[in-house]
Amino acid sequence: MTGAGPGLLSDRVRSIGTSATIAMSQRAAAMRASGVDVISMAVGEPDFETPPHIIEAAHAAALSGFTRYTAADGGPGVKQAVQRKLLRDNGLTYTAPEIHVASGCKQVIQNAFAATLNPGDEVIVFTPCWVSYIDIIEFAGGTAVLVPTGAQDGFQVDAQALRDAITPRTKWVLLNSPNNPTGAVCPALLLDAIAAVLQEHPGVLVMADEIYEHLVYDGVEHVSILQRAPQLRDRVLLVNGVSKSYSMTGWRIGFGAGPQWLTAAMANVQSQTAGSSCSIAQAAAAEAMTGDQANLPLWRERLTRRRDLALPILARSRWLSVNRPDGAFYLYAGVHACIGARTPQGTVLQDDTAVVEYLLVQGHVATVPGEAFAMSPFVRFSFALDDERLAQACQRIVDALDKLQAPTGGGV
Ligand code: GLU
Repeated sequence: MTGAGPGLLSDRVRSIGTSATIAMSQRAAAMRASGVDVISMAVGEPDFETPPHIIEAAHAAALSGFTRYTAADGGPGVKQAVQRKLLRDNGLTYTAPEIHVASGCKQVIQNAFAATLNPGDEVIVFTPCWVSYIDIIEFAGGTAVLVPTGAQDGFQVDAQALRDAITPRTKWVLLNSPNNPTGAVCPALLLDAIAAVLQEHPGVLVMADEIYEHLVYDGVEHVSILQRAPQLRDRVLLVNGVSKSYSMTGWRIGFGAGPQWLTAAMANVQSQTAGSSCSIAQAAAAEAMTGDQANLPLWRERLTRRRDLALPILARSRWLSVNRPDGAFYLYAGVHACIGARTPQGTVLQDDTAVVEYLLVQGHVATVPGEAFAMSPFVRFSFALDDERLAQACQRIVDALDKLQAPTGGGV
């Protein structure tokens, strides 16, 4: 018999890895702490401060004694705020029991999959996709079925590809618009086509992750699938939260809205695992969703400017092919030209993970490889950082790539 050690870990936990976005931002932080001037374009979080009125609401809640357990799936205050938000922004009416509040969207997604997936159940995920979907699905015992989208189609989902991927084992279809990592925003007509496929499969659930809802640019509008296909309401779980729109990543509040049979089961999961999300963060999130919304257009405008600042700098590099995202705050750049190239140190870049490593070591810019989003060879750059650092980071990337030697010997 062997002693204690990693051999004791469960098969389930061995099937997952560290979140690549979090791992890379921690690595950048460690390098910064050791004195290297690393600029992080890795983790997706806005650099704006949480607005003071939200912080004041948290302070007032704590002082007034709102410091105890709440209902597992959120207290009445935050649930009412979610109801008001869904009505105001999406024209959707939900009752309080149909709302599920947890510690960030990640936990909402985890609770939903834990509540519904049996071994062998399939979840259709369009790729590239956010780093944690696949691991959360597998951790919950399900199987992620990956359906690739293409840069040539603006990374839009395809209704026929969805139809082809559905099997008798399909339990969920996961939609994410605006998309992380591509920034693609699913247009209304495409949502109609997706809804038509779903109509053919009444036993399939739909998770619509809309966390980047408010971060859309150039007049592009976010449309929720339920606005186009209200007939799907009894099997759609909307997932959203305050992290991105209100710059509250550290407060950890996300919510789901869905049929009560599902939210009730999710509340059971939550009650046995986390208890509830933080009461004070719930009060802050309630204020974010119902208080002054003036920051949203300002931030949207600033992020548009940053996207338009980053794009032309990166576009100068022949080593990159960069998309123009309509939403979220990422550029998902193709690095096909870099594969096989030689670094000044003599290393041959074999994949996008090696490209990311090279950008970190040579350029001192932290990014995330496409491998983490299930589509290579790409690199994700977050442009949610201040203008000056952003311009500097993009220039560093271009300069570092300029030092590469193309596989054939000359430049690209
Ligand atoms: N969703 C963000 C990202 O993709 C935050 C970090 C995470 O949870 O992955 O970077």
